[in-house]
Amino acid sequence: MNTYNTIIDISLPIDENIILYPGNPPVTIETQKSATGQTYLSNLSLGTHTGTHIDAPRHVNESGIGVDKLDLSKLIGTCRVLDLTNSVESIKKEELVAKNIQEGERVLAKTSNSARGYKTAYDDYIYLSSQGASYLKEMRVSVFGIDYLSVKKRGSIDNTPHTELLDNGIPIIEGIDLSNVSEGEYYLVALPLRLVDLDGSPIRALLLK
Ligand SMILES: [Zn+2]
Repeated sequence: MNTYNTIIDISLPIDENIILYPGNPPVTIETQKSATGQTYLSNLSLGTHTGTHIDAPRHVNESGIGVDKLDLSKLIGTCRVLDLTNSVESIKKEELVAKNIQEGERVLAKTSNSARGYKTAYDDYIYLSSQGASYLKEMRVSVFGIDYLSVKKRGSIDNTPHTELLDNGIPIIEGIDLSNVSEGEYYLVALPLRLVDLDGSPIRALLLK
């Protein structure tokens, strides 16, 4: 791909008011002037799973790779946004099968979460079902993204939606905003900071069209 007409920013703005998944550390920002008073610099504190971010295998497995070791080719390239706005409670395997997912595809799920937005946190977001995660693993997708801060059901002890993907080398993008994006093919750029051996990283996620 050499050309594009539009850049769609699907990342969330980060400031101290950003909504957080329960239990995540708060965002704090302190901006100071340098000793000479000529420049500004800020002390920023935030969790690795703040806002739009990527989960690396290390998120669920102590010996899994961190964000710095992810295969970047999975995070740059053609991708497909799937319209799953009719999914109720969770994204089911059959709904993914109906989208005719191809091996190695980069897949972003647009659910009804996108219409609810990120202004306030809520618990009954649409998540990825265990069977859906197993199917994505079978199809060996390159990356899976979802439009809420977690891929799994709130409070569930079943961590399969994470493990089926992450333990099989499939990174997960969480917290994307697809409210202005319709189903179709795009070019994805979604890169983590090069944080050594860390479980996750905020990303700037873009769709080029
Ligand atoms: Zn995460």
